[in-house]
Amino acid sequence: MEQKQTINFGAGPAKLPPSVLLQAQRELINYSGTGISVLEMSHRSSDFNKILNQTETLLRELLKIPVNYKVLFLQGGGSGQFSAVPLNLIGLTPDRCADYLVTGTWSAKAAKEAEKYGKINVVHPKLDSYTKIPDPSSWALNPSASYVYYCCNETVHGVEFNFTPETNGVVLVSDMSSNFLSRPVDVSKFGLIFAGAQKNVGCAGVTVVIVREDLIGHALKECPIVLDYKMQAEMNSLYNTPPCFSIYIMGLVLDWIKNNGGSTAMEKLNKQKSSLIYDIIDASNGFYVCPVDRICRSRMNVPFRIGKKEGDDALEKEFLDGASKRGMISLKGHRSVGGIRASLYNAVTLDDAGALAAYMEEFHKEHQ
Ligand code: PLP
Repeated sequence: MEQKQTINFGAGPAKLPPSVLLQAQRELINYSGTGISVLEMSHRSSDFNKILNQTETLLRELLKIPVNYKVLFLQGGGSGQFSAVPLNLIGLTPDRCADYLVTGTWSAKAAKEAEKYGKINVVHPKLDSYTKIPDPSSWALNPSASYVYYCCNETVHGVEFNFTPETNGVVLVSDMSSNFLSRPVDVSKFGLIFAGAQKNVGCAGVTVVIVREDLIGHALKECPIVLDYKMQAEMNSLYNTPPCFSIYIMGLVLDWIKNNGGSTAMEKLNKQKSSLIYDIIDASNGFYVCPVDRICRSRMNVPFRIGKKEGDDALEKEFLDGASKRGMISLKGHRSVGGIRASLYNAVTLDDAGALAAYMEEFHKEHQ
């Protein structure tokens, strides 16, 4: 097969391991001797059940998920969970209050959606820019909240928690869409974790929800049935047709993660890759500027500006054009913030990050 020359630094859907794509290609027409494609397979068939169960088993193994947690494979994306979380959990306490940390676009959207279903308390003063995590000593947590919600990695702004928030026993909920399985996580500290697959663990279409069993069964009566964790848990994610092919691809990616050393190895690699880029930014005397506080810089999404703090549009365009000529694509920052963003999910290799680092150095030299 012709080797792909393109390096995809996209924020999601994102690069998949080439070996996964090749396996999916080989199995596309005739999956495991069944004579049909996974795309054509009944979700009630024993072959698909095997795929679903293998995917769950791998996930449980990789994250050491305790037995008192259910794993659900749902549709609706991360955004679907912005609604599903309050619909299922805000009724845990009678006054329907939940605490939110708002550290970027995605947690802001989640908090806004949750306001439809209860009283949402943002526990810290509003941030004037999404470049930091307010010090936990300044959080005003409500001890009788139904849950505390945060986004572990803000994909647009490149802000990542490198610690697990302490909630004094209140249920902790985390959106890990953009750093899922990029490092080890102690699942037992969480009531619920969710993640869309299309960044670190597969393709678009499936969202994983890992939820502690005692939190299931408290949905508001208006909760749509497809978002009701109780129904989906009882039906093993098969209440309705699940995203079969996306679950299959996730299984292949999880297998790849396992064969490449699991979450600990991913963490090591992700630290190395992101350090390559941050080191160049820090050594550039302000030519490259990352606005995020060092302590919460994301290892998944590295946002930066070129030329000056607020970015020089012409230089940034030239940088992106040059990158594209070298086969490096999807480096443009999110439309709401501009600039450059390099996403370095699990499938991005050290060589890929090295190629970007080399180009950044070269570009800086040319413009000194
Ligand atoms: N949460 C985070 C951290 C994200 O990065 C995204 C999308 O990029 C979402 C939620 C929304 O996911 P979806 O587009 O699958 O609804």
